[in-house]
Amino acid sequence: MTKNNRTPVPPEVPADALPVDNAKAVLKGYYAGSQIPSPQGGFLMPLGVRTGDGGKGHLILECSASSLRYHVEIPKGTRVERSKVREVLDQGVEPDCPRHGRGQRLIRMGNDLVCQLCGVAFARV
Ligand SMILES: [Zn+2]
Repeated sequence: MTKNNRTPVPPEVPADALPVDNAKAVLKGYYAGSQIPSPQGGFLMPLGVRTGDGGKGHLILECSASSLRYHVEIPKGTRVERSKVREVLDQGVEPDCPRHGRGQRLIRMGNDLVCQLCGVAFARV
C-alpha cells in the first residue's frame, strides 16, 4: 500500500476513495452540473459532500462504470468570498453560496455557515 500515501485521506472521506488526476476539471463539471467523465469510462456521479478541517469541502463521487469511489478536495472559501458572505450577513440577510449563486442558501452547521452543494464553510456564526 504505497500508491496513495502522498495524500493522507481525511476522516471525512471514505477510506476507499481514490484521488482524481484532474480535480479542477471535475470540480468545474460539478459546479456546472454537467456530466463528468470517469477515468474508468462512464461518468463520475456525485455521492455527496462533507465539510472538512478549516472549512474546505470534500466531494465524493462514484464511477458509474466501475463503482470505484473518488474524492476531490474543494478549496476553502477565499478571503473575497468570505467577506462577501459576511457583508450580506451584516445586512441581516441569509447569504447564498458565493460559488453556486442565487437561491443556494448557506445553512448553519454548528458554528459554520455551509453550502450543501460544495461543503465549504464560508462564515462563522
Ligand atoms: Zn456552494
